[in-house]
Amino acid sequence: MAQAKKALAKKAGASRTARTKSFSNYIGGEWVASAAGDWLENRNPADTRDVIGRFPQSTAADVDRAVAAAAEAFDGWRHTPAPRRAEILYRVGEILMRDKEKYTRDMTREMGKVLKEAGGDVQEAIDCTYYAAGEGRRLHGFTTPAEMPNKFAMCVRQPIGLCGLITPWNFPMAIPSWKMIPALICGNTVVIKPAEDTPLSTYNLVKACEEAGVPPGVVNLVTGDGAVAGRRMTDHPALRLISFTGSTETGRLVALACADRNAVCSLEMGGKNAIIVMDDADVDNAVEGAVWGAFGTSGQRCTASSRLIVHKKVYKEFSRKLVARAQALRVGNGADPKVDVGPVINQDAVQKIMRYIEIGQKEDQATLACGGHRLTKGDYGHGYFIEPTVFTDVAPDMRIAQEEIFGPVTSVIPTKSLDEAVEIANGVQYGLSAAIYTQDVNRAFQAMNETYTGIFYVNASTIGAEVHLPFGGTKGTGNGHREAGTQVLDIFSEWKSIYVDYSGKLQRAQIDNKKAIG
Ligand code: ADP
Repeated sequence: MAQAKKALAKKAGASRTARTKSFSNYIGGEWVASAAGDWLENRNPADTRDVIGRFPQSTAADVDRAVAAAAEAFDGWRHTPAPRRAEILYRVGEILMRDKEKYTRDMTREMGKVLKEAGGDVQEAIDCTYYAAGEGRRLHGFTTPAEMPNKFAMCVRQPIGLCGLITPWNFPMAIPSWKMIPALICGNTVVIKPAEDTPLSTYNLVKACEEAGVPPGVVNLVTGDGAVAGRRMTDHPALRLISFTGSTETGRLVALACADRNAVCSLEMGGKNAIIVMDDADVDNAVEGAVWGAFGTSGQRCTASSRLIVHKKVYKEFSRKLVARAQALRVGNGADPKVDVGPVINQDAVQKIMRYIEIGQKEDQATLACGGHRLTKGDYGHGYFIEPTVFTDVAPDMRIAQEEIFGPVTSVIPTKSLDEAVEIANGVQYGLSAAIYTQDVNRAFQAMNETYTGIFYVNASTIGAEVHLPFGGTKGTGNGHREAGTQVLDIFSEWKSIYVDYSGKLQRAQIDNKKAIG
């Protein structure tokens, strides 16, 4: 949180030209500036001279206004039949599809990831929108036998109410869509606050909702600082639910605020994900998975492959090939199709990642096998670029193998057996994703069963979730909820159990039916 704040101060303090585009909040179907008239600047992390625009620096008053709009729209939206809500949301999907290329370019410009990955982010929003809209004709409840004669029992989903959605910068359209579209199909109204560094991609998603005909007040967008606008959302008595994705540190604050007023709280936080590479693995395939998992999105994914636990029989070969691949990656502006790895998000991220690289070099046994520098020459000097970095000979308890770095840095850890590898994989505070490369089905299933994570891959990297499977993790990664899949409906709806007694007389459960067995 402190990091985001500092980044904001830096962005806001930078100079602005008269041509800077001004964006607005979206409240009650109107595009409005913040009540206080303050702004935050959005700059390109690959070239900070490039100002994307200024967005409202919202205060508690703006959040309150957005919540009031969501409250006013709630009855109309929840009474709109779910299949009709779905028709509108399908149109959102069509608009996202139509403008995918523009959204992709916008995302690379504000967030830095290479075009191919930004396109994947937009595609995930499209997939999520179609998939969740499909629930409009399902939203299944269930019936079950009642224990009394002439009595009927069933269970239905009902909307939870007004939802506050707080999102991070690393998947700036996909994650907002994961939260917003399921919330809407369930009949809730929402207030969304994107991360300070990436308001444009969420703005684009909200614009698509407006064009698709989502009624005024059903979706409200408030941009601004987490500690001010985000904090007001977590404290607002009318927001029945807060759905948060971000750092573990901020997630705890969100959970505490929700606990204080007994609001529902869904958290998706950090990861320290391991790929296990066994001695029978296809090493080249494992190296490709490691490179994609460790350096895609410059390592800024909660599912990043930040630990590579490699059997000692293939350790040398794997490390050598990994380092060669990492050194061959082209770092640069993600808008250039020849670039493999874009910048990191901001100056605070640079400092944090470089601090960890320093810690890794000081830790006794670890070897800095490649990378380790910030790139500053020529055009690099205008952005936040760090070399893909590999540490080898890392011990499982070192800080670089325990703490989430959220940058293009990975650690290779030698192991002598599958049992030991699984123990190392489980020996962190997080539990999001894990993977194994092996040709042996017994080992694959053993590792699948013994790793304590929410996601597991066999012969694939720790990343690559699909929207129709639940997404989330154990331990420090979350608080038991899952996004995506149909499981997300359990976050955004309340179960209501209904009993219909058509016997025409008083029947007492647990008492009268006992006669049946004397
Ligand atoms: P990061 O450290 O990766 O920037 P954060 O967890 O700080 O991630 O941010 C994730 C989201 O949480 C952002 O939208 C941010 O503005 C918001 N946020 C930060 N601090 C708070 C807070 N105290 N209360 C609510 N939201 C917050």
